[in-house]
Amino acid sequence: MKKLFLFLIFTLPVIAQAKLNVVATLPDFGAIAQEIGGDKVTVTTIAKGTEDPHFVDARPSFIRVLNKADILIEGGAELEIGWLPPLVNGARNAKILADAPGHLILSRHIHLKDLPTGPVDRSMGDVHPLGNPHYWLDPDNGKIMATDIAEALSRLDSPNQAFYQANLKRFSEHLDQKIVQWTKALEPFKGTRVMTYHKSFDYFLDRFGFELAGTVEPKPGVEPSPTYINSLLPRVKGAGVKLVMVEPFRPRKTPEYIAQAIGAKLLIVPEKVGANDKVRDYFSLFDYNVTQISIALKQSK
Ligand SMILES: [Zn+2]
Repeated sequence: MKKLFLFLIFTLPVIAQAKLNVVATLPDFGAIAQEIGGDKVTVTTIAKGTEDPHFVDARPSFIRVLNKADILIEGGAELEIGWLPPLVNGARNAKILADAPGHLILSRHIHLKDLPTGPVDRSMGDVHPLGNPHYWLDPDNGKIMATDIAEALSRLDSPNQAFYQANLKRFSEHLDQKIVQWTKALEPFKGTRVMTYHKSFDYFLDRFGFELAGTVEPKPGVEPSPTYINSLLPRVKGAGVKLVMVEPFRPRKTPEYIAQAIGAKLLIVPEKVGANDKVRDYFSLFDYNVTQISIALKQSK
């Protein structure tokens, strides 16, 4: 009996292999990591679905979470620059620093929009100095992100490589089917002109054939002044703008005023998983948005 007991003590840690601790900056990255990692990972997300991804409440409790992380998944292109570095520095975890295998920057393989052509100028408060970082709203980019995540997990946990690759295949095939479905649902509205508050939806709009007629912000991250609004209205009035798309966390007063002035409809559109209780994962984010946009545009016809 004693022998059996000793045998169990020494073999248990091998049998019950610890799950990988995955920390994702945004719920969307966390949702994809969960699809790929399945029961081999524990996923913690820092930003809430209801927060502005540029300005996240970086609670110090996340330092402890990052200290125990095997991998940190971030969006990159300076999306998290305002709040992530202090957490990572405080965590003192070599596994997730700079070029460690446990530090994954998802923007690396993404074709970013609005890449700067001249010198980068942050003096005006532009929060997209390295290009538009809201790329997860193109579901085609979801496949690139999932591929990078599967590769990173396989590198850190090679015995489960086949498991991660099988989940990647299933995720990508499901996404391909859904992209066909979403494209078909939005087909009747191709070419529709819309406005957005921030340049959050550019990737989504391009993927599904919408035209961005203008933004409420004069520059990404810069709030509109009354002078700017007065110069904006004549430019967008008469342009046939049907929707003003606004993320749930934005102030409503100015976009409401603009929508009314130009005869468009104000639509609150989640840009992240967890923005409301119907948007629970990467697929339902698009399901929800495609449905809401279709309904709004059918009504405005
Ligand atoms: Zn932004």
